[in-house]
Amino acid sequence: MSASIDYNKYEAVIGLEVHAQLLTASKLFSRDSAAFGGQPNTHISPVTLGHPGTLPFMNRKAVELAIRLGFACHCAIEKENFFARKNYFYPDLPKGYQISQHTAPICVGGHVPISADGQSRNVRLNRIHLEEDAGKSLHDQDPSNSMIDYNRAGVPLVEIVTEPDLTSADEAYAYLTELRRLVRWLDVCDGNMEEGSMRCDANISIRPKGDTTLGTKVEVKNMNSIRNVKRAIENEIKRQIELVESGGIITQETRSFDASNGSSFSLRSKEEANDYRYFPEPDLAPFRLTDGFLDQVRRSLPELPEEKVARYTSQLGLREYDARVICDDRDTTVYFEALMAETPHSQAASNWMLGPVKSWLNERNASIADFPVSPASLAALIALIQDGKVNFSIASSRIMPAMIEQPGKTPLEIATALNLIQETDAGSILPVIDAVLEKFPAKVAEFRSGKKGLIGMFVGEVMKMSGGKADPKLTNELLLKRLNG
Ligand code: ADP
Ligand code: MG
Repeated sequence: MSASIDYNKYEAVIGLEVHAQLLTASKLFSRDSAAFGGQPNTHISPVTLGHPGTLPFMNRKAVELAIRLGFACHCAIEKENFFARKNYFYPDLPKGYQISQHTAPICVGGHVPISADGQSRNVRLNRIHLEEDAGKSLHDQDPSNSMIDYNRAGVPLVEIVTEPDLTSADEAYAYLTELRRLVRWLDVCDGNMEEGSMRCDANISIRPKGDTTLGTKVEVKNMNSIRNVKRAIENEIKRQIELVESGGIITQETRSFDASNGSSFSLRSKEEANDYRYFPEPDLAPFRLTDGFLDQVRRSLPELPEEKVARYTSQLGLREYDARVICDDRDTTVYFEALMAETPHSQAASNWMLGPVKSWLNERNASIADFPVSPASLAALIALIQDGKVNFSIASSRIMPAMIEQPGKTPLEIATALNLIQETDAGSILPVIDAVLEKFPAKVAEFRSGKKGLIGMFVGEVMKMSGGKADPKLTNELLLKRLNG
């Protein structure tokens, strides 16, 4: 940052274009596999390569997935649809044109809810349309030649375009995080930015704060993570402000982000832009969506993340933050709901999900599908705590790991075998209390002269000496009696 510039004089306007590969088995217009990767040029046929005489045909599943996402984003669905050709020459484009709905999107308008900077609001969408992906040029396989892999050519994409509605890099980060959760939630796309199955181009302009006209936009590409989109936007806002402040003029251009140093370089300016000569694709008939088909897709939608958060807070009484964490991905909500079917203790269930379960998964970089304890067993462990048989700390640090080691055993069997059942009768706790008081005579004196906060330390010592087995509540009561008596 330059010290002499008042960056706050300006505000940023950002619109994002996200390409998401649809989770179909085959390509948009052929039976070739749409799977990621594979030996180069094995997922191809004459249709993908656009050989003379071949004809494209529509993938119904791709249309269904686009509509699924459209409904979830509250878009209007266009019933009369057709594809257009976008003509340009590029080595990774075998046909010499891309078949796209660019001119007439299947989903119009809509919004995605975000919370950023402590505020919730909707980011308005312009549209979601279907198109086919291009192949990949590989420049690092051979010292003197570029290689082409056409496996990706023809893989179905949706392009999700926002209105110029975002105002900061943090909002863009929140939007992409939410969009990724949504496409995964709906099984529309795997949302993997590192592998390129979800890609984002950021359009950025600045204007003096309070102005209502839009400034000239610059498009930044090639960010392979949500964090890098955020970095690229921060960098571009700063670059534009510094350019304007030094008397320069922003020209419409496309830039490429370089993650290694956080800066960008120009790829092409507006003058070099292609004339795509769009025209309706003559080899594909227009297609009409019936009300019956739209209804069927609508009914197949799962409960959406926002709806679940609302239900968890209102019906189950969860804190909003907890509900949001559980709703980070759909599998976690499936586990949580199976757990809730086995226990009436929703707060305890939520604490386990956010605490011990999440830590176990984080340590292994695993997902909930890998968690070896079944919802029913976890519910049995929660019941053991609620019945006062073990405390939470012993349950999470000793019993849960043992349950993972010995999946056939119940929590009660494990607690009994490990001698961890809580001592809830005064007869077994009092001798430990006496031993602790004897060990810390000075602290006892301090307590009696008014330093009541020491009670926590005494409880801790009793717990330690009892191997965690003393009932903390009863220990507390008995200690107070002894100390005050
Ligand atoms: P293009 O035809 O160049 O792709 P579009 O009108 O389709 O332009 O917009 C592409 C993206 O750029 C959209 O997300 C839109 O919201 C965004 N956008 C358009 N104008 C601006 C602007 N002046 N500043 C920031 N973003 C913009
Ligand atoms: Mg565009």
